[in-house]
Amino acid sequence: MPAPQPTALGSDRPDKRRLPVLASGALAREDRSDVRVVSMHPVTRPRSARISITDRCDFACTYCRPSKNDGYAEKRLSVEGWRTTIAGLVEAGVRRVRITGGEPLVHPHVVEIVRMISGFGVEDLALTTNASQLTRLAKPLAEAGLRRVNVSIDSLRADRFEAITRGGALAPVLAGIEAAREAGLDPIKLNAVVLRGVNDDELEALVEYAWARRLVPRFLEVMPIAEGAKLVHDHLVPVAEMRARLASLVEDEEPTTEPDRGPARYLRSRRDPSLRVGFISGTSDTYCATCDRLRVSSSGVLRPCLATDEGVDASEAAEQGDAERVPDLLAEAWAKKPDGRSFKGCTEPSAARVSMRAIGG
Ligand code: SAM
Ligand code: SF4
Repeated sequence: MPAPQPTALGSDRPDKRRLPVLASGALAREDRSDVRVVSMHPVTRPRSARISITDRCDFACTYCRPSKNDGYAEKRLSVEGWRTTIAGLVEAGVRRVRITGGEPLVHPHVVEIVRMISGFGVEDLALTTNASQLTRLAKPLAEAGLRRVNVSIDSLRADRFEAITRGGALAPVLAGIEAAREAGLDPIKLNAVVLRGVNDDELEALVEYAWARRLVPRFLEVMPIAEGAKLVHDHLVPVAEMRARLASLVEDEEPTTEPDRGPARYLRSRRDPSLRVGFISGTSDTYCATCDRLRVSSSGVLRPCLATDEGVDASEAAEQGDAERVPDLLAEAWAKKPDGRSFKGCTEPSAARVSMRAIGG
């Protein structure tokens, strides 16, 4: 059966189809004897999806991959496969999509993929990038329907940036951020993984750089996931410490979150309350119990959690254009989602064994 073409969704349109196992909120083992239930997650259905459109990347950040020669997956979903997958996910209730990777901008058809997803009328369409190709692509991406972008930038010093990314150049990334501003992408959030002894003396500089452009700087704890597992012991800077270091710039207040926008917590600027700094504590504090996020790997596997190797391969249905099957496969995958209470996400030993690039960070 051919994949359905996208149609605009009214935000109040009821879901036509319910996830077969999850709609009731009670995951009955006897309903699906073929599903191995790890535990019951409090969020009964995914509302957001992070799709890794490629595991390829032009950088090799020290916390993400061991080198530029660590190999790539042989199989990658086609654009039509992505169309079918997204059609099925939207049918199952997914309303927010983030395109990531690997580096999504090295995918030769990234603009086409953005246009295609935008056509489904999802509530939110965003992209996470290292920005090395953003000068060329910011405008076409915005024209294709991309609304906002997160740029990863760990340092404003060219030599340090090159060392962290293993060869990446800072100047094109800075130019890419300017191009994103000119293209009207908004908000633009800048993500920096803070590593003790590597870039932790740049917190203020990154905040000032971002605020001067009215962007949102965000600081991430390094997580013991993939290569990050080797760095946490010596290089983790907990969010509490980051916050203390920025005390002269940000309000001493209860941090806020953005509804439906992931786990970041924000503090306002002392100078201008419309400016903010975000913090993401994936290591000192996990947020798994409220996670409504599904990940789809570059090879088309539906993955309920970043930190486990569990998933359900939907690539065959996707490449056959069988969107009708995707909600069933999604229900099967979601049943494998760890409970988020006893399982502590990226701090679990299983996290060190996954590929952040393939699953989509
Ligand atoms: N290549 C794109 C980029 O770097 O923005 C998208 C993919 S990358 C895997 C997505 C995000 O994951 C980046 O912001 C990166 O800094 C973050 N990341 C990767 N490995 C991490 C780790 N071990 N701990 C914390 N953040 C990590
Ligand atoms: Fe590439 Fe992003 Fe991983 Fe860095 S964090 S190696 S840019 S996928």
